[in-house]
Amino acid sequence: IKEKHRNNYKMFETSISENFKSMLTMESDLRKALQKEQFELHYQPQKNLLTGGIVGMEALLRWNHPEKGYIPPLDFISLAERTGLIIEIGDWVMYEACRQNKLLQGKGYDPVIVSVNLSAKQFHQKNLVTKIKNTLKETGLDPKYLELEITESMAMTNEHYILNTLQQLRELGVLVSIDDFGTGYSSLRYLSVFPVTKLKIDKTFMDASQKQNKAIVKSIIHMSHSLNMKVIAEGVETHEQIEFLREEKCDEMQGYYFSKPLPPAKLIQLLTAG
Ligand code: C2E
Ligand code: CA
Ligand code: CA
Ligand code: CA
Repeated sequence: IKEKHRNNYKMFETSISENFKSMLTMESDLRKALQKEQFELHYQPQKNLLTGGIVGMEALLRWNHPEKGYIPPLDFISLAERTGLIIEIGDWVMYEACRQNKLLQGKGYDPVIVSVNLSAKQFHQKNLVTKIKNTLKETGLDPKYLELEITESMAMTNEHYILNTLQQLRELGVLVSIDDFGTGYSSLRYLSVFPVTKLKIDKTFMDASQKQNKAIVKSIIHMSHSLNMKVIAEGVETHEQIEFLREEKCDEMQGYYFSKPLPPAKLIQLLTAG
């Protein structure tokens, strides 16, 4: 998927100077995108494997470019990180995700948790906790319906600082998950020390043609539960995968088999239907 998206985008085509030029264009386009409200959030529902109910949704950023159409996040997040624009974009994502979840809760469905991806730069902002607190206050969303997704690599630097930030976030009442779990370098000690509430098993482990993957998935599920964390499988695309996850008592799943990320109106249709 990553390759396909990249090939679609001119940036990776021609010479280095061309690349540089289009990178500058993209940077200024990114700045405009914020002002002109070209960003959107799509939501991928997360299902409880025991009850079958929708219990959460991951907010995934979409850039609706006036000429190029939808640009996937992998094509601009790293540029946004390098230029620092990720802070403003991230603020927008956080506010919008909380606002829309609060709005959804007024419609009479069972409340769901919205999870928001945090980039490394965002996570290391000194005023992160205050910002999130204010966003919750402004939108009126109960903190227990907000989950922050961090990655293993972020948790590796400056243990004391990370621990402190995570503790403050947990005191606020928001949930914290480790995204793409299994692809980074988490030490098991960190897992037992950091107040993380959920592990998200990376989608690469869903590939059953790799025989060892089943064993890895099993161990992650069992480890999560021993550490009193919940566990969700990402990238679930087949019925066989669901059966396996159910058998192993995985709590939740997310993936194309159930639903791709949806614009808010489509998500509401799904909630209405079931
Ligand atoms: P991620 O956080 O690991 O998000 C999951 C990605 O897997 C999403 O790609 C989703 O559309 C895709 N996916 C969902 N179900 C399936 C499936 O069954 N099979 C396969 N093959 N893929 C599936 P998407 O939306 O293109 O996002 C890519 C990445 O961009 C995300 O990976 C995340 O790292 C980043 N991203 C997205 N939105 C944000 C954001 O608001 N802030 C930040 N910092 N990063 C974001
Ligand atoms: Ca994620
Ligand atoms: Ca992930
Ligand atoms: Ca990722």
